[in-house]
Amino acid sequence: MCKIDNVKNAPKELRPMLREMIQSLINHFMEFRGAKAGVGNGSCCAVMKITDTEFVYGQSQAFKLDQDAMNPDSALFDPANHAERVVIQIAQGKCQELNASLPKHLFVELPPCGGPKGCHTWLANNQDLPNDFNVWYFYEATKDMVSWHSKGAQLETDNILSALPL
Ligand SMILES: [Zn+2]
Repeated sequence: MCKIDNVKNAPKELRPMLREMIQSLINHFMEFRGAKAGVGNGSCCAVMKITDTEFVYGQSQAFKLDQDAMNPDSALFDPANHAERVVIQIAQGKCQELNASLPKHLFVELPPCGGPKGCHTWLANNQDLPNDFNVWYFYEATKDMVSWHSKGAQLETDNILSALPL
């Protein structure tokens, strides 16, 4: 079972942890975005916190094009390479190394995409996720994410964190 909701609706007791994940995500990708590293303003990014000090990051990999993809939002590339799946797969590998269970919270910038091959379906059917796994997103529309990415890390951070008061 996977719960998917806008991070604005997260209960207050989860907000410090979610704010930390979001801040870490923005800082991490600030170093790559636009630097010819395959992370442009249109790349959706995701993060999980897997230990007290370690985060796992992933981004949509737009260079892995798949014309058969059923993504109603962008319809361009394979949803298997979308940020939430990338980060879950990396986190699963790391947690196996650590002999730890997968954490229950993931933050991804955009809502999981729909369609039969989409991330919403993939998350709902994924037996490897913990019970009550939570996927938190923020931007409702891709154009909003692209616009905020272009404003830089500080404004982007302020915008998201102001929606998550402590
Ligand atoms: Zn997707």
